[in-house]
Amino acid sequence: MIPRMRDVIVAANWKMHTTPFDAGDLARTIAARTRVSGVTRVICPPFTGLAAVRDALAESDPDVEVGAQNVHHELQGAYTGEVSAPMLVGLATWVIVGHSERRRDAAESDELIGRKLGRATDAGLRPILCVGEQLAERDAGQQEAVVDRQLRGALMELDPAGPRMAGLVIAYEPVWAIGTGRNASGRDAAAMATAIRAVLAGLGWGAAAEDVPVLYGGSVTSANIAEFLAEPSLDGALVGGASLKPDEMAGIVARAGLTAAARGAAV
Ligand code: PEP
Repeated sequence: MIPRMRDVIVAANWKMHTTPFDAGDLARTIAARTRVSGVTRVICPPFTGLAAVRDALAESDPDVEVGAQNVHHELQGAYTGEVSAPMLVGLATWVIVGHSERRRDAAESDELIGRKLGRATDAGLRPILCVGEQLAERDAGQQEAVVDRQLRGALMELDPAGPRMAGLVIAYEPVWAIGTGRNASGRDAAAMATAIRAVLAGLGWGAAAEDVPVLYGGSVTSANIAEFLAEPSLDGALVGGASLKPDEMAGIVARAGLTAAARGAAV
């Protein structure tokens, strides 16, 4: 069988940080510090920073892509304060869907997340679907069952053969590792990436499941990124806190560049 080369991706989730006044400058600085070939770089500022980041990157480094952190499950309507997928077109090309902070704070269900995925992919946005277990679930050995349930719920209505799912990326983000400084081990994260692709294969993706990039997220830093990228089943990282620090992003993306070069040479 011909080995596959999946994208190596580093996505920055700025969460609720930066104003429209400083987001563009931060994006420009990070872009300048992360110019490495072979790595797909994505910056996801808050909604209010999307235009500033888009404009800053268009002028300084158009290779860096822009993502939103959330999207509504309807196209339009009486949903005060919400943002739909068509509204993001022109501002972003990616969108994070199902982040654990939204599952926690906005009680997003797997079914709702599935509807968001549908709206996002219909609009041509590339989704990063986040899945991951709570600490008690990991302690009880239920991590694979939890992720299985999350994937089935979110992907149930989407046709794996449909062209709109071609850009799907999954981020394995154990909830206990997000923003805690306590990261999963590379080996555990890699085992979850394998489990994720097995679920996709079982959902009708078949061999195409192997083409889906799986990122690790949860307290990733320049000091631990190598542990994840050493695992062939992992294709990069979704980075939260460290993504606001240009030095950290420079280290993370530099390491991802080495991985992309090594994997490209092996194909
Ligand atoms: C995230 O926001 O998706 C995340 C993984 O955050 P952190 O890197 O801060 O743990």
